[in-house]
Amino acid sequence: MYDVIIIGAGVIGTAVARELSKYQGRVAILEKNPEVCQGTTKANSAIVHGGYDARHGTLKGKLNKRGVELYPGLAKALNFPYQRCGSMVLAFNREEEQKLWALMENGKKNGVEGLELLTGEEVRQIEPGIAPEVTKVLYAKNAGITCPFNMTFALLENAMENGTELFVNTEVKGIKEFGEGLSLFTPQGEFQGKMVINAAGVHSDRIAEMIGDRNYKITPNRGEYRILDRKAGDTVSHVIFQTPTPDGKGVLVAPTVHGNIIVGPTSDGIDSPEDTRTTKAGIEKVDRSASKAVPKVPLRESIRIFSGIRASVEGSDFIIEPSKTAKGLMHLIGIDSPGLASAPAIGEMVVGEIQERLSLEKKQNFIEKRRAIPHFEALSNGEKEGLLKANPRYKKIICRCEMITEGEILEAIHRRGGATTLDGIKRRVRPGSGRCQGGFCGPRVLEILSRELQIPMEEIRKEGTDSKLLSGKLKGALK
Ligand SMILES: Cc1cc2nc3c(=O)[nH]c(=O)nc-3n(C[C@H](O)[C@H](O)[C@H](O)COP(=O)(O)OP(=O)(O)OC[C@H]3O[C@@H](n4cnc5c(N)ncnc54)[C@H](O)[C@@H]3O)c2cc1C
Repeated sequence: MYDVIIIGAGVIGTAVARELSKYQGRVAILEKNPEVCQGTTKANSAIVHGGYDARHGTLKGKLNKRGVELYPGLAKALNFPYQRCGSMVLAFNREEEQKLWALMENGKKNGVEGLELLTGEEVRQIEPGIAPEVTKVLYAKNAGITCPFNMTFALLENAMENGTELFVNTEVKGIKEFGEGLSLFTPQGEFQGKMVINAAGVHSDRIAEMIGDRNYKITPNRGEYRILDRKAGDTVSHVIFQTPTPDGKGVLVAPTVHGNIIVGPTSDGIDSPEDTRTTKAGIEKVDRSASKAVPKVPLRESIRIFSGIRASVEGSDFIIEPSKTAKGLMHLIGIDSPGLASAPAIGEMVVGEIQERLSLEKKQNFIEKRRAIPHFEALSNGEKEGLLKANPRYKKIICRCEMITEGEILEAIHRRGGATTLDGIKRRVRPGSGRCQGGFCGPRVLEILSRELQIPMEEIRKEGTDSKLLSGKLKGALK
C-alpha cells in the first residue's frame, strides 16, 4: 500500500510529489496520458505572476505570493528556465488608471513588494515598443517567465530520483474507501493508498464525483494564443498586460524563456474540457488586442497557434480541501491561473496537510538538485569537447531550427519519466518548436523514438492516447 497516491501529473501533481519526496514514505503518481505534462500545464502563458492581481484574502492571493518567493531557489536547484523579467499592466485612460491603483493596493495587501506606478513617458524609456497612447503603467519587478514543461519534467525527475513512482497510461476510473485508506481502480489494476491527492486539473470535479463529492463544478474556459518566431524576440522584454476586465487578465504580449514572443490568450467558456480548438474569431481577437498594446508586434512572424483550457470554478478561488465524504482524500479543484505561479506553494501547503495526517519522517538523504539536459549549441567550446568525448551522438544535429542534437533527444527518452511521444521530445528538448514546426526533424525524431523504445513507428503517438501519427507502410498499402 502507498502512503500517498497523486492523481494527475501536471505541474500541480508533480510539485506536490517533489515536495513530498523530501519525506519517507511510498508515493505514486497516476497519469492517464502516455506522458506527464499533457493537460493544462502544456498550454498557458508561462508567466510567474507578481501576486498583485489575485484578490487579497483568497488562497490565490496567498499562494501566488508565496510561489513567487519560492521560484528562484527552486529553478536553481532543479535547473529549469526562469527569468525575473518584470511585468507591466497598461492603462490607456483615467478609468483604467484607477484600476491600476486598486491593483497596486491589492498587491500591497498581499505583501507584494516593489510595485510601482510609472507614467507613459517613463515606461516608454524602458519598454519602447508599447503604444504611445499608454498613460500609466503598474510595474511589478518580481514577475517572471518560466517554461512550464521543463519545470514539470524537472519536478518529476527529482521526485522520482527521490523515490516517487510514476504510472502513465493509468486513468483513475473509480475510487472506493476501505478501512485504512482508498482504492483507486485503473486499467492497470487497483492501487491502494492511505491518502490520495486529486490533482486532475480540468477533470478534478469528475474525480470528486467518483467518491460522491458532487458539489464541485468546473466550467472549462479556453484561451487561444499565437507564438511568434525568435526573429520577433526583441519586440518586448517585459510581460505586457492590459488592465484586467471581469473576464480576467486579458491578452498579453510577452517574451518566452526560449526567445520567442507569445501573444494571447482569449477567455471563452466552453462545454467540453477537451475542446482545444483554435478559432478565427479567437485569434483575430488576440491580434487586435496585442496590436493595441504593442503596435508593431510582428504578427506575421507567427509560427504556431494553440489553445489551453482553464479549470475555472464558481467563486474563482483555488479549492484545496479534504473530501466531504472520504477520509484521506484531498481535492485540488479550480487550479486555474495563477496555478503555475503558485505551484511550488501549493506543493508546500498540500504536503503540510499530508504531514498533519501521516507524520512522515524527513529523509536524511534527500537529493535536492537536478541536472538539466545540456543544450549542446549553447555550451562553450571546452564543454562541447567534453560532452562529445562522453557521447559522440551530441555531434549529430536532428533539428536545424533549434539546433538540437541526437544526444539531447536520447537524454529526453532515457531519463526518469522520459519521453515516449513526439511532443514529449519537443517539450523536453525543442525539436519541432522552431520555424519549420517539425517538418524537417519530425520523421527523424520518430525514427529515434522507435529505435530507442523498440516499438514500431506506427505505434508512436504525437501525445495523447489517440494520436498515432502513421497508419501503416505505403508499400504495404499498394500490394
Ligand atoms: C490559457 C491559460 C493561461 C494560463 N496562464 C497562466 C500563467 O501565465 N501563469 C499561471 O500561473 N498560470 C496560468 N494558467 C494556469 C495554469 O496553467 C494551471 O493552473 C496549471 O497548469 C494547472 O496544472 P494542473 O497540474 O492542475 O493541471 P494539468 O496540467 O491539466 O494536470 C492534470 C493531469 O491530470 C491528469 N488526469 C486527469 N484525469 C485523470 C484521471 N482520471 N486519472 C489519471 N490522471 C488524470 C491529466 O491527464 C493531466 O495530466 C493558465 C491556464 C490557461 C488555460
